[in-house]
Amino acid sequence: MSGVAENLMTVSARIAAAGRKYGRPEGSVGLLAVSKTWPAASVREAFAAGQRAFGENYVQESVDKIAELADLPIEWHFIGPLQSNKTRLVANHFAWVHSVDRLKIAQRLSEQRDVHLPPLKLCLQVNVSGELSKSGVTPEALPALAREVAQLPRIELAGLMCIPEPSPDEALLRARFRQLAHLRDALRVTLGLPLDMLSMGMSDDLELAIAEGSTLVRVGTAIFGARQRPAA
Ligand SMILES: *Cc1c(COP(=O)(O)O)cnc(C)c1O
Repeated sequence: MSGVAENLMTVSARIAAAGRKYGRPEGSVGLLAVSKTWPAASVREAFAAGQRAFGENYVQESVDKIAELADLPIEWHFIGPLQSNKTRLVANHFAWVHSVDRLKIAQRLSEQRDVHLPPLKLCLQVNVSGELSKSGVTPEALPALAREVAQLPRIELAGLMCIPEPSPDEALLRARFRQLAHLRDALRVTLGLPLDMLSMGMSDDLELAIAEGSTLVRVGTAIFGARQRPAA
């Protein structure tokens, strides 16, 4: 068995164990394999082992990789910072975008999404770490942003995403994840949308995110190994 296949089994076992420990229904936590900086061959290896959803952070790198892997029925998720001059590529190469924190970006994605494609599924990235983080909409500004994004025609507002500040403090990380879940619960009521996606948890903290209701953990290092280079 390949290293990637073995790692996928280990990560799946971690997800299943955390799900049992924290009383999550079976199958309620998905796995997004974060393939940024890794070549198409690594994605093929994970695909051969059964993985279908992959996450990418860098627009040009991901568009090249998606073209190389066009023969595989992969569900691509964009999870990186997004500049407005790059939205067209993302709007038309991905099924999901997790990292939207401004109305302008969401509007452009909606305008640029090909009408022949299904609506682009979108998470709003929330800053749950206050001044310790630069990206994400503030919890205070989230309701107004969500209301506007929910009305865009080529977008399906599907949930929320967060990246807490790195910390060894498990209680603090759980509190960050819990806050995202509470924000989602409140929005569900005010918007009347399911907002089923809670995109939270990475290689080091996925158990804590699952404890607080994560429906998709985004895992890179624990599947592909330590990244050698920051991608372009
Ligand atoms: C890189 C990245 C991940 C994966 O992080 P690992 O620690 O390698 O699992 C998850 N989410 C986002 C937004 C990332 O940029």
